[in-house]
Amino acid sequence: MALLYKADPTRGEIWKRVLADRAPDLEVRLWPEVGDPRDIRLLLAWEPPEDPIAAFPNLEMILSVSAGVDQFDFSRIPPEVPVVRMLDPNIVEGMVSYVAMAVLALHRDLPTYIDARAEGRWHQILNRPAAERRIGILGAGRLGSAVLAALAPFGFPLAVWARTPREMAGAEVFVGADGLDAFLARTDILVCLLPLTEETRGILGAATFSRLPEGASIVNVGRGGHLVTADLVAALDEGRLSAAILDVADAEPPPPDHPFWTHPRILLTPHIASHTRPETAVDAVLDAIRRHRAGETPIGLVSRDRGY
Ligand code: NDP
Repeated sequence: MALLYKADPTRGEIWKRVLADRAPDLEVRLWPEVGDPRDIRLLLAWEPPEDPIAAFPNLEMILSVSAGVDQFDFSRIPPEVPVVRMLDPNIVEGMVSYVAMAVLALHRDLPTYIDARAEGRWHQILNRPAAERRIGILGAGRLGSAVLAALAPFGFPLAVWARTPREMAGAEVFVGADGLDAFLARTDILVCLLPLTEETRGILGAATFSRLPEGASIVNVGRGGHLVTADLVAALDEGRLSAAILDVADAEPPPPDHPFWTHPRILLTPHIASHTRPETAVDAVLDAIRRHRAGETPIGLVSRDRGY
């Protein structure tokens, strides 16, 4: 019985060390040093091989090294092989500080001050009270709910949009396609923390932007596929949107002539909002393996129907 790690090789060495320390009985191999493929029962991966079962006939479980699983081709993974997404507390911590930074930067007009400074202009804007800046979070899952809690002390009116109803302290909850219009109409800063699925691909596009209040801004920390670049550029150029802070792109890095590099109303970061840290993620991985072996459902099991 062996676990194969197939992702960033530098972090692979850390995973190997951390797992050796915490689970000395678990044999860990680092891609591409697979050894006998029949030994591989557990795969800890960013992207599995194209046909994981052909590659590893005794594969029992796939653990994603990331919170999102949109990079997986589920048509190639049989339903009896569970896929578990990453539940590292470091991912939550990183996302909370990134989104707080982005929301506060937009709330306090940072993109405008960056432009003004470049032009040598001393340009003062009276600050808008937090109570008049409505924040809307697309997605109310593990990350959306942590971000919501972190933003609460600032006094912004908060709302979330999810697929299924729930109560959330301190936030208005909007649900499904029927709730989207009302959610967007009350949102000045829109944060995307959705998984990328067939239903959410392209959600940050012209139709959504036209339903936000004039001058709204967006933060995309979901996936590049959520955003339609041409629609964003058009909305920014028309002034319909005022600014965008983006951590993800369709192609990472975007090609040199991509507007994400040069548009004056876009701030781009290189997919660093949060990352998996083996030292803190190992607990979730070992818990998933333990539950799987005990015949229990691992926490973070991905639903094939929902796609997340
Ligand atoms: P969760 O699965 O915990 O939460 C997803 C949320 O999205 C849920 O509230 C879910 O609703 C909602 N949702 C999904 N589909 C729809 C839909 N069609 N309509 C309305 N709501 C929907 O995921 P996480 O919070 O852990 O992560 C979210 C995403 O963040 C990841 O999938 C990944 O893409 C991205 N991410 C980005 C990182 C970065 O560094 N930029 C790092 C980590 C994650 P419901 O609760 O009703 O199911």
